[in-house]
Amino acid sequence: MTTSQSIDFFMQGRLVVATHNKGKVKEFGALLAPYWQSFVSAAELNLPEPEETGQTFADNALLKARAAAGAGYWTLADDSGLCVNALGGDPGLYSARWAGPQKDFQMAMRRVHDGLANTNDRSAYFICVLALIDPDGREHVFEGRCEGAMTWPPRGSLGFGYDPCFVPQGDMRTFGEMPEVEKHTISHRAQAVALLADYMRKVSEVL
Ligand code: IMP
Repeated sequence: MTTSQSIDFFMQGRLVVATHNKGKVKEFGALLAPYWQSFVSAAELNLPEPEETGQTFADNALLKARAAAGAGYWTLADDSGLCVNALGGDPGLYSARWAGPQKDFQMAMRRVHDGLANTNDRSAYFICVLALIDPDGREHVFEGRCEGAMTWPPRGSLGFGYDPCFVPQGDMRTFGEMPEVEKHTISHRAQAVALLADYMRKVSEVL
């Protein structure tokens, strides 16, 4: 997209998704389709990718959204992770970092498993916090959680990240064994998007 096209885009008051992660662009594409037919990502606009220095998921989501926000258009960013109760919420904010620069999630999942060696508590949840900045600069935060349990060994090749060792509550399969369309009905990201959609419906009623 050229600079003048980006400006046209912004002037239409549309949506910028503040992520450089292709996997997230794809997931958001599917989840936002009923509400926003199209959006552009921060990567496509060559916008900067800030360091995630926040102390909470909301801090980090806001940090990413603010880095891409501007007058006249909507900006959406997210921060997400896996929180394991017996590990005091780890890997939490560090979920991506536990996989290292090689993005080795086999290693990260093993680290979680090893940490659970002396406990029977396998409870965990995925969390997704969305930060939305409206065209007037007002900030909104939406949080979705998906409760479940850790399992070992990892199962399934679908999804990404920690999916093969997480069994969502009410199911026997890991997220790694669950087709994407099904994951999208219960996931932390889907729940946060549902809250965002409620908000957008309210806004569109008063516009
Ligand atoms: P961030 O939100 O880009 O900072 O990174 C979130 C990290 O949490 C990802 O790299 C994954 O490791 C993990 N994560 C978040 N959501 C999911 C999910 O739906 N499945 C598996 N792993 C996830």
